[in-house]
Amino acid sequence: MKNDPGRSGSDGINPDKMPEKRAGQAPHPARLIREVLLQILYPEGAVCPGCGKISDGEYLCPACRKELETGEMLDSWHLRDLHGVPAWSIRPHRGLARKLVLRLKYGTEARAAAALTGLLRQRPPVFPELSPNTVVTWVPMPVRRRRERCIDHGKRLAEGTARELGLPCRELLRREGNSQPQAGQSMERRQRNLRRAYSPASEISFPVLLVDDVLTTGTTAERCIDALRNAGAEEITVLTMTWASR
Ligand SMILES: [Zn+2]
Repeated sequence: MKNDPGRSGSDGINPDKMPEKRAGQAPHPARLIREVLLQILYPEGAVCPGCGKISDGEYLCPACRKELETGEMLDSWHLRDLHGVPAWSIRPHRGLARKLVLRLKYGTEARAAAALTGLLRQRPPVFPELSPNTVVTWVPMPVRRRRERCIDHGKRLAEGTARELGLPCRELLRREGNSQPQAGQSMERRQRNLRRAYSPASEISFPVLLVDDVLTTGTTAERCIDALRNAGAEEITVLTMTWASR
């Protein structure tokens, strides 16, 4: 288990306070020390990332699990059109859902991915029934950043999604060049960075479900949609864990 960064069991990150421009930066030494100490104190990650209370060994305590799965959140599925493709998002990018996305992204907590993709079990009837030959894939991360962060959070989310939906999961897109982190940059700059950032890994003759963490401007997903179409994909659906208003 020591290679699974998801078992870090930290409650000290407080991702809500983490500025977006931290993307791509190496963790602060003090944060690393704290992580290691918490790992020794709570080897099974028995601290709930939602409320910081000692839990019974589950990733989320019962109250936070309930908050994530029910209440006002039940009607929170969101649909947007991206280049003619339906883009579904499970939760608004706030509260516990946002916290989990940030913990996965910046705290490399793999179990946050499972908590988020587990929400697919309660998908609304309007969510399309995907044909069984649909391949789940993800928005690839630049190699340099993947090395820094230990886990590829997009891949984790795609694998969790594939598991929940009973579909195969495969890498269909490659990241080219040395793209700078997107967060905190102007729209114009984002678009320039992304223009040639994605290329298909192979020819595609099957439906694709593209998974990502959060949908904001949609620019990243649209570039991926274009790359998938260039490779032959005709039927594409996008799924993100959270959405934020543009
Ligand atoms: Zn909790």
